[in-house]
Amino acid sequence: MNIALIAHDKKKEDIIKLATAYKAILEKHTLLATGTTGTRIIEETGLDVHRFKSGPLGGDQQIGAYISDNKMDLVIFIRDPLTAQAHEPDISALLRLSDVYEIPLATNVGSAEILLRGLDADFYQWRDFFRGKGREDLPI
Ligand code: PGA
Repeated sequence: MNIALIAHDKKKEDIIKLATAYKAILEKHTLLATGTTGTRIIEETGLDVHRFKSGPLGGDQQIGAYISDNKMDLVIFIRDPLTAQAHEPDISALLRLSDVYEIPLATNVGSAEILLRGLDADFYQWRDFFRGKGREDLPI
């Protein structure tokens, strides 16, 4: 599965703690992140993370493009709800596209833990269908 990891500046420590705690699950998947979030996760956890541009410089939109191309299976976006963000339109667009394409989306650590545990429990088989795998077994 392709997993997007994004955290606003005041939430960077939270996503690092999350990535550290769930490293054993995350390392089985392809991780993609906005620039600064990705750099911090790599430095602190050693996980292999593909980095897009920094969020305010277009990284959120790059992840949105992946979603609209059916290339993202899970989005973990730890938002700071108490600080205004210069790139708020990009953030809204990313959240909207997650809903448009029915992509599981966590915007806080509590939800992220549930989604990661669900991933580990193999609750995401339906994504294989949307990704085009296993279609030969289905009567279309
Ligand atoms: P960053 O971007 O990981 O480059 O800090 C996150 C964001 O604010 O969207």
